[in-house]
Amino acid sequence: MPLKKTTETTRNFVEAVAKHQGWKLNSDREFLDSIITGLTATYNNYGYFRCPCRDSWGTREKDADIVCPCEYCRPDMQEYGHCYCGLFLTADFAAGGKPPSSIPERRPENRFP
Ligand code: SF4
Repeated sequence: MPLKKTTETTRNFVEAVAKHQGWKLNSDREFLDSIITGLTATYNNYGYFRCPCRDSWGTREKDADIVCPCEYCRPDMQEYGHCYCGLFLTADFAAGGKPPSSIPERRPENRFP
């Protein structure tokens, strides 16, 4: 099992991802903290940054599509301006000042029947 993460190291990770991709982080501090706490918990439970807003298959192989930043975040950001969790926002969406809303799940159901 990899070394445990702290919320600070997870915060550094999501900040680095956002900077590298040209994305913004959700500006709602409380919400952002809750997602960072969730990501930290999934890392420490599973050994990888599994999306905190989705159910897990429990293995990295089966959860590969939902390791943050997930496979679905790019199309979701193109279509809705933010990822499924509302952690990452496009610069345009962030500039609009509206909070992310609930969006449809793009991950196929019964991915591993
Ligand atoms: S929905 Fe957002 S927080 Fe969840 S894995 Fe995808 S990019 Fe990360």
